[in-house]
Parts: sequence; structure tokens; C-alpha cells
Amino acid sequence: MTLDDVRQRLRDARRVTALTGAGVSAASGIPTFRGADGLWRNFRAETLATPGAFAKDPRLVWEWYEWRRQLIAAAKPNPAHELLARWTRERAGFTLITQNVDGLHERAGADRLVRLHGSIWHVRCWNRCGAGDRDWRDDRLPLPSLPPPCPHCGGLLRPGVVWFGESLDPDVVSAATAATACDVFLTIGTSAVVYPAAGLVHEAKRRGAFTVEINTETTEASSAVDVALRGKAEEVLAQLARSADSEV
Ligand code: NAD
Ligand code: ZN
Repeated sequence: MTLDDVRQRLRDARRVTALTGAGVSAASGIPTFRGADGLWRNFRAETLATPGAFAKDPRLVWEWYEWRRQLIAAAKPNPAHELLARWTRERAGFTLITQNVDGLHERAGADRLVRLHGSIWHVRCWNRCGAGDRDWRDDRLPLPSLPPPCPHCGGLLRPGVVWFGESLDPDVVSAATAATACDVFLTIGTSAVVYPAAGLVHEAKRRGAFTVEINTETTEASSAVDVALRGKAEEVLAQLARSADSEV
């Protein structure tokens, strides 16, 4: 199986679904969680992105999010975001699912994005007060105080993202699961260890999709997919698009 086979599959496919992870934003300078540059003040992400960490030290957790918001605000979408965004607009039957919280797919102009893990630009009330029960956008940078107060109840605001150990929004999971009924499923720049996101490629395969991984390294999904393409998302996608697009 080669790049040409994948191109052919993409040309012939009616429904294509892509799942992206932090690797898609690496070329924009956003650190992945598991890469060497993912550490912040010697903390691992897994020790900060949890409800327990927030309960213990909300200011510390917010300082980390503020650092990430600054990095992301200064970054630009890269060719991988641009190409996937174009497919959401131009390919009927294309669904884009992301684990990323950085908003770079949206900034590249993606339509109909399924955001599995929320957005770093959203906040919600930690107390789940009635008025502040849902997420809302608050992209002020810097935030006026850390941790920021809930404007409804005066309690704490938390980032509008899904932390380790938390459940995903069931409507979002349904939308992602529905999109596994496709002809080609691409898993791009994700280490494929965070569930339920990591299960989507297996579900797609079970339902008969041709499955493709694009990653710079071998992952848990590599042996399960039909084709594992080793390389940078921004480069491999550009190569795939070159001829797949000519038939769109
Ligand atoms: P991860 O950090 O676990 O894995 C990143 C993967 O990308 C690795 O397998 C790595 O080999 C690969 N990679 C690195 N550079 C690449 C490139 N240029 N092209 C292709 N692949 C490349 O990330 P994950 O699997 O997304 O899971 C981590 C969780 O952390 C997610 O739930 C996500 O919400 C969160 N996260 C988000 C961001 C973001 O929004 N940008 C950044 C870090 C973590
Ligand atoms: Zn509140």
C-alpha cells in the first residue's frame, strides 16, 4: 500500500472522516502533550489537566492555561489545518473531528467541526451554577485575574475543556461515532491513547472503512490501520491532496 493507493481511495470515497490530534498543530509551534517540549515548569500535562489538580490549585492550573492561550494566540494555522478546512467546505460527506482545543481548525475556516475535548477559548462555572451551566467563549488575554471569577455566582471559572478522567459531551460523542460510518477514516497526529477518541478508528474499521494513519511515529493504532503513513501531517496531507483534489 502506498500513497497512490490512499489517493485512489480518497478519490473514490463518498464519505471521508478525519480525526486530528495535537500533532496537527505541532508545525504551528503548539507543543504536544507527550513530546519533549510539552513540559511547563517541569509539570506533566497529565498532572495539570485534571479536576483534582484544579481543586487543589486553581491558580496554578489557570497559569498553565494562560501560557498555552498565549502560545496559541501567537500561532497561525499551518497547511494541514488549511487543507482539512478546505475539505470541510468543498467535499460533501467530509467530517472533521478534533481532539485539539486550540481553535486552529476554526481559524483556518473549518466548517462543521466536531470538537471532542472542548476549547481552550471557552470557560464555564466550576460550581456549575444555574446561570453559568454551559460553556461560553472568553478569549480575553490576559484574563483580568487568575483564577477568573464566574460573573454569575462569583465562584471560580474553569477552562471549557475536557480534562483527564472527565466524560465527553454525549451529543459530541454521538456525532463522532456517527461519522465512523465512512469509506475512508484518517487518524492524523494523535498518539491514539486517549479514549474514547482513540476508539473511533477501530469503530470505523469494524464498520468497513479503509483506515489510514498519518503520524511521524508509530502509535497504538499503527498496527490496526490499513495503511500507516510515516511523516508530518502538513506534508503528507499536501501530497495526498495533490491528486485527490483533482477529482473532487
Ligand atoms: P499527543 O500529544 O498524545 O500526541 C501527538 C501525536 O502527534 C504523537 O503521536 C506524535 O508522534 C504526533 N506528531 C507530532 N508532530 C507531528 C506532525 N508534524 N505530523 C504528524 N504527527 C505528528 O496528542 P493527542 O493524541 O492529541 O492527545 C493528547 C490530548 O491532549 C488531546 O486530548 C488534546 O485535547 C490535548 N492537547 C491538545 C493540544 C492542542 O489543542 N493543540 C495540544 C496538546 C494536547
Ligand atoms: Zn457560577
